Amino acid sequence: MEHVADTFDLAEVSSAIRGCLPKDRASFELHEPWFNGNEKRYVDECIETGWVSSLGKFVDTLERKLEEFTGVQKAFALVNGTSALHMALKMTDVDFNDEVLVPDLTFVATANAVSYCGAIPHFVDSETRTLGMDAAKLEGWLAEISQMKNGACFNKKTGRRIQAMVPMHTFGHPVDMDALAIVGRKYNIALIEDAAQSLGSFYKGKHTGHGGRLAILSFNGNKICSTGGGGAILTNDASLGQLTKHIATTAKLPHPWAFEHDHIGYNYRMPNINAALGVAQLEQLPDFLKRKRALAMRYREAFSKVSGVRFFEEPDFAKSNYWLNVILLDEEAKEKRDDLLNFLVSQGIKARPAWKLMHKLAMYQDCPRMDVSVAENLEARLVNIPSSAFLGDES
Ligand SMILES: *Cc1c(COP(=O)(O)O)cnc(C)c1O
Repeated sequence: MEHVADTFDLAEVSSAIRGCLPKDRASFELHEPWFNGNEKRYVDECIETGWVSSLGKFVDTLERKLEEFTGVQKAFALVNGTSALHMALKMTDVDFNDEVLVPDLTFVATANAVSYCGAIPHFVDSETRTLGMDAAKLEGWLAEISQMKNGACFNKKTGRRIQAMVPMHTFGHPVDMDALAIVGRKYNIALIEDAAQSLGSFYKGKHTGHGGRLAILSFNGNKICSTGGGGAILTNDASLGQLTKHIATTAKLPHPWAFEHDHIGYNYRMPNINAALGVAQLEQLPDFLKRKRALAMRYREAFSKVSGVRFFEEPDFAKSNYWLNVILLDEEAKEKRDDLLNFLVSQGIKARPAWKLMHKLAMYQDCPRMDVSVAENLEARLVNIPSSAFLGDES
């Protein structure tokens, strides 16, 4: 493959990235939190008033702000996105020995939360258009391997019930939820949205998180808005939402002094001190989104002139938050991926590949999966490049 060297030049890729970034810095992380607003004031207020734990006005304010921003009826702030996924699966009746469909190309938390329920992740391929779960390929796979019994979908090969699916909006780019919802209805498989990466991303004009029974967000340190650690559950089903909140907060029956609990509950509520950060961050989210889009558009322009690589753009039905910007190496250039990563890092530009595919991890290698050749191809070609909000202009 001698021609690769002619069409793909590490220095050219590096200078395309460098040209989009501020001149007054020597090195760039992939994604850094940015506390540029009322964070310190709100956190101080928690300390001064003593309201630092799971009761306090910032938790409620954060939840109301999330409802307002996403348009979802009920939002509950939790300790992190992984526990939010765990709760969402529990609330969808995912039981011991069920199977749950998850993308092969995702962050490990999606699969881990399934394992916490004693259930088994079943890996689904991606489509190139969205990087997320391929609904058409999934439907073909279910037609081949599943069988309906008493209204539930069973995997004929393993004998296990397939109870839920958890599509994920990869790097902030919305997956095709409508297409997945059709498959879910046909096979009676509950839909949970892993929107951990897509706060501020819209699918067909609506914020992500409206497509399933429940959705989750994450406010981890590297996400678009950070509470240190944190997450949330979103739902449009008010009574399911109420029950979720009850179970996530130890399932205690309201009483002035008696301790009585009516479910095995969890201690998953977000502390007020984290929510204080969250409220300040959400105040800045519209600005973060503008800046991230401005940076993405600069990358798009710069990479239109670089051969051997393409900047990944939002699907046409979506408006993405461009949480982590993605470049995809051409087929002929993919064997240069690690050279590129090393070169970029040597230039002070933090870059990294996609997550190792779930089925390649030791604990998940024996789990059921369909053909995942598209995810494998994406894994080989995909590189994330610096994406922090403050790198983009306010425009
Ligand atoms: C970040 C993330 C999570 C988990 O969130 P935490 O808050 O870190 O527990 C879950 N799923 C995906 C896809 C994520 O990126």
